[in-house]
Amino acid sequence: MTPRPDNGLPPRRPRPQATPTGIDVPPWGGRRAQEALAQVKARGRRASLPCVICSQPIDYGLTYPHQDSCSVQHVKPRKRYPELTWDPRNWEPSHLVCNKQQGERDAPPSLGITSL
Ligand SMILES: [Zn+2]
Repeated sequence: MTPRPDNGLPPRRPRPQATPTGIDVPPWGGRRAQEALAQVKARGRRASLPCVICSQPIDYGLTYPHQDSCSVQHVKPRKRYPELTWDPRNWEPSHLVCNKQQGERDAPPSLGITSL
């Protein structure tokens, strides 16, 4: 990096990530998400928790990217509750495949539209 001459302008500030709640939440991913998964797995294994989406048992011995492996399901979707992304109370175990399908359904097709 070469030092830049001071042009008298205020430094550019990165635009804060806009969330509905105005809270700046780091996106899901990376090491923290891995640790979250480990935590959910440990909890699920201890309590033999089933998949929160399909209610079928989860084989906690399977690992990512096995489609039946345990993944972290956000009970309250991150899109609507970004402030709960990293709240362990919002994490439940689910099959990876169920989680993915749920994600695709995140924007639900318009329901209950009736014609007169
Ligand atoms: Zn499932």
